[in-house]
Amino acid sequence: MKRITIAIDGFSSCGKSTLAKQLAHHLHYTYIDSGAMYRAVALYVIENGLVIDGVLNHAALLRVLKHIHIGFKHDDASQRSETWLDGRNVEHRIREMDVSHNVTLVSPVPEVRAKLVQLQQEAGKGGGVVMDGRDIGTVVFPNAEVKFFMTARPDVRAQRRYQELKGRGAHIDYESVLANIERRDTDDTTRKADPLIQAADAFVIDNSDLTSQEQFDIALGVVVKAIGVVTEA
Ligand code: C5P
Repeated sequence: MKRITIAIDGFSSCGKSTLAKQLAHHLHYTYIDSGAMYRAVALYVIENGLVIDGVLNHAALLRVLKHIHIGFKHDDASQRSETWLDGRNVEHRIREMDVSHNVTLVSPVPEVRAKLVQLQQEAGKGGGVVMDGRDIGTVVFPNAEVKFFMTARPDVRAQRRYQELKGRGAHIDYESVLANIERRDTDDTTRKADPLIQAADAFVIDNSDLTSQEQFDIALGVVVKAIGVVTEA
């Protein structure tokens, strides 16, 4: 069976990774979370004092960028691919709010994007991959056979994110989660380098009122049509 590339782009916290993991699992494809890579760079700048009073030391980041090592390793216990930064598992750390607050300082930097896009293209070459992010269908894999563009109302996204963070024991309030989502929407859609835009050939899913099963069924239908073979749901 043909192993295609599936690109999933969309706004923050709208269930891109849930759908990407479901599809990858079902199709026995590799799932790659490109946002985790930007989060890892954000964690690096936080931990190395390259952000002071909310301002990124751009020149210092450019000096060290080529030495920052970001990768994924399969974790046997969780059965998931986890993010590593310079030899350390940072999968959980990069989901914390300080990283969410600082990630849009590093994601507009063209040199950061160039490095990460190259890593993503390398990781996804050969197909059989589901990758989620903001520019996957437009920049990383413009020839992806299937592209999804996902969206949902900001309040729905914030509520889901809030529940997820609470579930992990984070001390967080709903208002700051909503504010962070709205700020990242603005930052991601208005930046100069590779902004979040809907690819002309993307299939749009607004999942504000969909369950994850309903969303999966819709997406799988699109994928099956593209592969040209019926797979078992
Ligand atoms: O997907 P996630 O919300 O974890 O991404 C975190 C941030 O990384 C986004 O808000 C965006 O600024 C950046 N990002 C990006 N391009 C991607 C994936 C993520 O700019 N392909």
